[in-house]
Amino acid sequence: AGADLREDHSVLAVEEGEDGVAVRARTDAGEATTGSSSEPTTETFHAQMVVGADGPVSTVRRECGLPEPGEKLQGLLGFSTETEPADFVDVHLTAPSFFAWRIPRGEAGTEYGLAAPPGESANELFDRFTTEYGIDVGEVCAGMIPIDPPDRVTGHRSLLIGDAAAQTKPFTGGGIVYGMTAADHAAREVDPRDPASLAAYERAWRADLSTEIRLGAWIRRAYSLPEPLQKVGLRALSGEIDVHMDKPTSVFSTDQLKAFLSRS
Ligand SMILES: Cc1cc2nc3c(=O)[nH]c(=O)nc-3n(C[C@H](O)[C@H](O)[C@H](O)COP(=O)(O)OP(=O)(O)OC[C@H]3O[C@@H](n4cnc5c(N)ncnc54)[C@H](O)[C@@H]3O)c2cc1C
Repeated sequence: AGADLREDHSVLAVEEGEDGVAVRARTDAGEATTGSSSEPTTETFHAQMVVGADGPVSTVRRECGLPEPGEKLQGLLGFSTETEPADFVDVHLTAPSFFAWRIPRGEAGTEYGLAAPPGESANELFDRFTTEYGIDVGEVCAGMIPIDPPDRVTGHRSLLIGDAAAQTKPFTGGGIVYGMTAADHAAREVDPRDPASLAAYERAWRADLSTEIRLGAWIRRAYSLPEPLQKVGLRALSGEIDVHMDKPTSVFSTDQLKAFLSRS
């Protein structure tokens, strides 16, 4: 498609103009040549549009003056060497306003994860969680989980996709499927020569995902219900369920509601 891929470049600044964008990037190769990290080599690229698919702390979002996601959770993830059949996951509503999870990944080991709002000590919560299982996961990866997309993810000649746009499931923090779904919409709708086409992208991804995201946010609110109500909900969701994790609307299918009512 005529793409010119540059690896090891960090975008530092973006300027949107009437006819195009200028993207200034630091080139790590240049830095190695000069041997000075305080004076990085930079290069400026000119294009018709810029796509910010640069994650939760998006430089493109900041540089184009686009609004921030509603919330950014701290996520932690670690693996133990326990191997067991990957049939069931454990979910603990112990992390404030979110949850901790344990997922057996077969031969790859067992995943332990947790997300918590800013201000909470996520590391302490994670240690407590893994200690309860009598496990030391060793190295832990940390990342930010953006929740609640801002009202606008497009600028004059810019668009955000994925975590940069907080296109994530509010009740799990997962962003891979929604981000790729939004990318498909962008590929279909956006014509880089025509800034007016950005509005079609905003409409298309929101038409596809907004209801799921809104319902997902309601499901997440249930994590903070009083414990007896949580227990009823968890009992209804335990065992084999036919809920599509990317589509909270599937919770409200007639068959699913019948199954929940018969269990609770
Ligand atoms: C602990 C944890 C567990 C998770 N588990 C799941 C899960 O089980 N399922 C799921 O669906 N999702 C999960 N997620 C979320 C998932 O990782 C993200 O939704 C997904 O990676 C978002 O993809 P992205 O391409 O939008 O952003 P990213 O994966 O963050 O990619 C952005 C890229 O842009 C690059 N970049 C950033 N700034 C610049 C810059 N200035 N210049 C150049 N490049 C830049 C980064 O280096 C990175 O390569 C989890 C997240 C966390 C933190």
